[in-house]
Amino acid sequence: MAEFDFDAVVVGAGAVGLACGLALSRRGLVVAVLEREAAIGQGVSSRNSEVIHGGLYYPTGSLKARLCVAGRRMLYAFLDAHQVAYDRCGKLVVATSIEELPRLDAILEQAGANDVEEMSRLSRAEALALEPELACEGALLSPQSGVFDSHGYMLAMQGEIEAAGGAVVVSTPFEGAAPLSGGGFEVRAGGAEPTRLTCRHLVTAPGLSAQDVAGRVEGFPADLIPKAHFGKGMYFRLQGKAPFARLVYPPPIPGALGTHYRRDLGGQAVFGPDLSYVDAPDYSVDPAAAGEFYRYIRKFWPGLPDGALAPDYAGVRPKLHGPGEPQPDFRIDGEAAHGLPGLVALFGIESPGLTSSLAIGEEVAARLGL
Ligand SMILES: Cc1cc2nc3c(=O)[nH]c(=O)nc-3n(C[C@H](O)[C@H](O)[C@H](O)COP(=O)(O)OP(=O)(O)OC[C@H]3O[C@@H](n4cnc5c(N)ncnc54)[C@H](O)[C@@H]3O)c2cc1C
Repeated sequence: MAEFDFDAVVVGAGAVGLACGLALSRRGLVVAVLEREAAIGQGVSSRNSEVIHGGLYYPTGSLKARLCVAGRRMLYAFLDAHQVAYDRCGKLVVATSIEELPRLDAILEQAGANDVEEMSRLSRAEALALEPELACEGALLSPQSGVFDSHGYMLAMQGEIEAAGGAVVVSTPFEGAAPLSGGGFEVRAGGAEPTRLTCRHLVTAPGLSAQDVAGRVEGFPADLIPKAHFGKGMYFRLQGKAPFARLVYPPPIPGALGTHYRRDLGGQAVFGPDLSYVDAPDYSVDPAAAGEFYRYIRKFWPGLPDGALAPDYAGVRPKLHGPGEPQPDFRIDGEAAHGLPGLVALFGIESPGLTSSLAIGEEVAARLGL
């Protein structure tokens, strides 16, 4: 290869880094995706709900609203093309008290403004006709929401990047980068065989390590690096038959979509995630949290039997806001933000990052002028 070792280096082989690598590969660039773990997709992308979000809630015009709706449409097409499993099961947003009914109307209006397809308002009777075990005063139906095999999705992206001549390199931590005088970057990579490589474009998509990685890019303005907050969410699994076919969500809680129900692709019922702030990523599941889960779930599923919930897993959201602070948008910082040509740095790619990933890749390519 001529001037650079790679046209682009992407830091992080989660769903978002791989989607960035894919978008650049599809533009004819030779890409290297660097991953510090021994396998792809072991970070936030492996500890989430695997829900394909409709895009109902986010403020119109925000990156979250735009990229979730566009990313969802692209994602279903990608999953079809690569024969990755999904279930477009639909979702009910339920009001569990009369007082919550106006929130449904507000969400329906927001979804319309965000260009979400086929949304409808259901009466209590209409919702119960769909899901007889449900308790609610009314609901919204989002037929475009679903669940999918996120690991199969990441493997398919890896395959496409490699087929285009790119490389997804595991056990290779990004250690730092410095701008080259004629443009582009020299990247330092660690691991068993530490190496230096050059690239014209650099994209950082390291999930929970976004702040650390940006700080290792020489010339990245320190005052632009946002404070990291870690929003832990725990899940409990139902021991017994899944009660609903569709996703069931009460209206969002401050700072997150809140504990919901899903039937995973294996047919099992999972509840979560809750939200608590932690000082550092921590994946323990406290069995004592079950009490709050029973109380919350019985508002929309009174039939939940005693003793049916088992601790399952936990994930950690890479948040840019602390408790009680307004939830900000994704940050996709290109040259206009930080002044370094050829660099895009991502921050705060929490939910709906998985759903949005393919559209984030397109947005990153656009910010690089590609
Ligand atoms: C509890 C929970 C539930 C969620 N539910 C959903 C959902 O249902 N639907 C949805 O759309 N979104 C959901 N999300 C959000 C979604 O999971 C994330 O937005 C998305 O997975 C982020 O992907 P990523 O590639 O940015 O991060 P990651 O998957 O964490 O990937 C980053 C990668 O970078 C690597 N890395 C870090 N530092 C370095 C370094 N120095 N060198 C090399 N590699 C490095 C890490 O090892 C990791 O593999 C949820 C998130 C959580 C926490």
